[in-house]
Amino acid sequence: MALMKIGAVMAKDVMATNKEEPILSLLERMNKNRIGAVIVINKENMPIGIVTERDIIHALVSYREKIFTKQVQDIMSAPVLTLDPDQDIDSAAILMTLNGIRRIPITVNNRLVGLITYRDLTNALRKSYFSLEEKAEELQDMANKDPLTGLFNKRFINDELKRQFDSGVKSGTSMTVIMIDIDHFKIVNDTYGHQCGDYVLKTLSVILQTKSREINIVGRYGGEEFIIIGPISEYKSSLFFAERLRSAIEDTVFNWDSHDFHITISAGICVLNSAIKDAKTMVKLADEALYDAKNNGRNQVKMSEKEK
Ligand code: GH3
Ligand code: MG
Ligand code: MG
Repeated sequence: MALMKIGAVMAKDVMATNKEEPILSLLERMNKNRIGAVIVINKENMPIGIVTERDIIHALVSYREKIFTKQVQDIMSAPVLTLDPDQDIDSAAILMTLNGIRRIPITVNNRLVGLITYRDLTNALRKSYFSLEEKAEELQDMANKDPLTGLFNKRFINDELKRQFDSGVKSGTSMTVIMIDIDHFKIVNDTYGHQCGDYVLKTLSVILQTKSREINIVGRYGGEEFIIIGPISEYKSSLFFAERLRSAIEDTVFNWDSHDFHITISAGICVLNSAIKDAKTMVKLADEALYDAKNNGRNQVKMSEKEK
């Protein structure tokens, strides 16, 4: 993991003081700016010490009324550890933990350019952790999804089929596979071009996705072939669901190059039953039902023979 540089994390507008500033004047500035620590610099802008709220409270308690005569140099701690903005933030973390300090001035050529605090460090570490997590999710998504439609790809669907089949058989809950194929899709490509074909695939995917319940998994199983799997238990509700998809698509007006046109789909359904021995068989049976729908005139939904 590439760690962030201190320069990207540090605060750049650091409050500074000189060793002659009266403590009470410094205290007023710190209160006004709600700052917990101030870096003491010399005329060359070089850090020579640090004064924290704690140092001031300690001074107030021990000097009492004499506090009016005290200056920064009477209470500052020195020497100061410094770091370079080009160093990784882990060097700051190591210095802080080893020395029990919560702030480190950042210098370039001995001149103060920033301050890194414990809080800056934890924030940076948290952010880099979250960005790593996001990156991992993105990669996972790329591996599981079809780039054109954003639906799950065949590889993911095949794994998911096995998972759902095994858990369905084990727990006695049911599962359904719906195979969907666009009717005469070749004509769309031939009439309006391949790009229009892609537009249809993308639009159809959105319809399938929005008409499906969260619990259903929608995938692109082949070029113009889609699959929906999920725990739709009985064949009547599966049929109702697939029929709803079919009619929604039939009613959709597609538009390309100012031409309106319609498409239809055919679908085949297989609902899990005790005679089915593996997930692959479910796909095969749904596919057979789909071809039944095609042979019967297209634009319709058929159940696998085994369910009738
Ligand atoms: P049927 O009703 O029998 O399914 O007819 P069909 O024309 O849909 O079936 P066929 O299998 O003959 O043609 C499928 C077409 O889908 C052929 C192929 O060029 C097209 N196709 C497959 N993948 C893509 C894609 O990613 N983009 C586009 N534009 N077309 C695709
Ligand atoms: Mg087709
Ligand atoms: Mg096809």
